[in-house]
Amino acid sequence: MTTSFAERFRLPKAGRTDEAHGQAPPPPPRPTREEAEDAVRTLLAWAGDDPSRAALAETPRRVAEAFLEYFEGYHHDPIALLQGSTFENASAYDDIVMLRDVRFTSYCEHHVSPFQGHAHVAYIPDGPIVGLSRIARVVEVLAHRLQTQENLTSQIAAAIDSALKPRGVAVLLEAEHSCMSARGIRHAGVATITTQFSGLFATDDARANRFLMLARGGQGSER
Ligand SMILES: [Zn+2]
Repeated sequence: MTTSFAERFRLPKAGRTDEAHGQAPPPPPRPTREEAEDAVRTLLAWAGDDPSRAALAETPRRVAEAFLEYFEGYHHDPIALLQGSTFENASAYDDIVMLRDVRFTSYCEHHVSPFQGHAHVAYIPDGPIVGLSRIARVVEVLAHRLQTQENLTSQIAAAIDSALKPRGVAVLLEAEHSCMSARGIRHAGVATITTQFSGLFATDDARANRFLMLARGGQGSER
């Protein structure tokens, strides 16, 4: 029995889930805002500072608010976003549709530290086409969750595959991880590249190579 691409890389629904695979357990109750701010105070003290000093008085509130922005992606469903903006493919266009250099910031699920880079995302329609800005928005929604670059890459591809049932999807992410540049081995300037191909991009080397060639034309590859 073969499993579809979307099944292999099952997308977490909006809301907290346990990874991209298997059944998601019911999420724990959401802490209160006050509990979140207390947790920030604890981390500030753990870092060695005094959370009661005047300059840090508003920091827990700001960090809690920043978390709402960093992780706003949990409150949006990427498949619904795509399906909410599809159009009839009137001229039966059947070649690569690609967004190059979609900038993103995501957060590593191991250290909650940012990783930043560019996404190149392509699909080959089979029927409906989708509003291009929605593809960029899907990158943003999935990036604004705790991620690994590998999961982010396959989840972007799975969302498009599942929502549009296209003839192929290709995703290439190139990012620098601050958990690698600012801590641990402290290697700056290392690019991590991940790719995920489905459908025609997975079976047809010529298409995959065209995608890679188009992606190389982007700013993300010039540095
Ligand atoms: Zn990390």
